[in-house]
Amino acid sequence: TLSDRLSGIFTKLRGKGKLTDADIDATAREIRLALLEADVALPVVKSFIANLKERARGAEVSQALNPAQQIIKIVHEELITVLGGEGRRLQFAKQPPTVIMLAGLQGSGKTTLAGKLSRWLKGQNHQVLLVACDLQRPNAVNQLQVLGGRAGVDVYAPEPGNGVGNPVQVAKDSIEHARRTAKDIVIVDTAGRLGIDTEMMQQARDIRDAVDPDEVIFVIDAMVGQDAVTTAEAFRDGVGITGVVLSKLDGDARGGAALSVRHVTGEPILFASTGEKLEDFDVFHPDRMASRILGMGDVLTLIEQAEQAFDEDQKEKMTSKLLGGEQFTLEDFLDQLIAVRRMGPIANVLAMMPGMGQMKDQIAELDDSHFDRVTAIIRSMTPGERTNPKIINGSRRARIANGSGVTVMDVNQLLNRFTDAQKMMKQMGGMMGLPGGNRRKA
Ligand code: GDP
Ligand code: MG
Repeated sequence: TLSDRLSGIFTKLRGKGKLTDADIDATAREIRLALLEADVALPVVKSFIANLKERARGAEVSQALNPAQQIIKIVHEELITVLGGEGRRLQFAKQPPTVIMLAGLQGSGKTTLAGKLSRWLKGQNHQVLLVACDLQRPNAVNQLQVLGGRAGVDVYAPEPGNGVGNPVQVAKDSIEHARRTAKDIVIVDTAGRLGIDTEMMQQARDIRDAVDPDEVIFVIDAMVGQDAVTTAEAFRDGVGITGVVLSKLDGDARGGAALSVRHVTGEPILFASTGEKLEDFDVFHPDRMASRILGMGDVLTLIEQAEQAFDEDQKEKMTSKLLGGEQFTLEDFLDQLIAVRRMGPIANVLAMMPGMGQMKDQIAELDDSHFDRVTAIIRSMTPGERTNPKIINGSRRARIANGSGVTVMDVNQLLNRFTDAQKMMKQMGGMMGLPGGNRRKA
């Protein structure tokens, strides 16, 4: 994957005291190749590499970072830029209802998104109306009705057998219906085809003209490769879009579509879809996506922290925590669990990062009861045990189990998981050749 490729490239920079122009060129070449192989569109790759080289040569030398970290930082920031920088929120109409039209190829995830978006907006106290304008596929209306039912929002659809086969008319009528029923948001689901075709584009345009949308959201399957560009261009030119939603980010996406689509459409990525369930959905955060592509969440945090707190003491502590593994305590582990839990659905995305395999198990079991149990166990330990779990022998285990109302097996399980997490932290530290420890000093 792109992440693997990039971390391989960065590993090679490890231990270099200073980057020569030749180093920068070689690295840029490899990154260029990695991006192209991940199906990132050529113009995007070109401007990316040009910026990277310029900045790497420009030697914005930061004392807190070694050369490898500096390159990673630049790549990370450039990725964020390509993905849209700050990101953007939904635009609401001054005069309700706000009309959101969904467009995209068949199977891209429009109808699923309609359900997710309606649930999300309902959670923010909006009155949402879903409108079924995909009258092409026999089951499409029903699919939307099921999703609407799950989200607890109304669905406007033509009466079956009423001879209403005109999606443009349905769209038009739905706005009236929304006004009558005091809805402030209308989400119009539309039909897609497997490929771009003129009839579909025309229908999308007609629906657009009928409802005068505040947002036309182009939904694109993040797993598509080079096709992303042609499809995005076709919808940009054919319907005119105001925003993008990446779907199926939970799949084995190579990152290409994500990196190309913003540049190609010129419009921001608004949301990310990460699964089939209604709650697998979140506002798109370019920085998080960039971190995911880099596949180095913890390392990036560390870089940030290293820069912020360039006081030797702090740095030494952090570095040894990552390098030494041992220093990663059960307190840290608990903090990590709490942090993961707070992240909610986005944790699914994080878990896909290389080296985060362990976290996947943690997340899978992170339902309330499990979480409470883990917390109870850790809280039942003495401070000494938390910082140095090695001392937790059989009798201590029994005491902890007793104190937290679990079995000794539960305690063992937790300690095993903790040991895995410790190893992972060690790997992450080692991968980056952080300053300190038995490696070169920064
Ligand atoms: P549409 O034809 O554009 O309306 O696409 P659908 O919403 O019907 O989605 C097509 C298929 O993709 C369905 O089986 C969905 O369950 C699935 N799907 C949609 N979004 C996601 C996602 O974010 N992740 C995964 N794994 N599947 C998705
Ligand atoms: Mg659909």
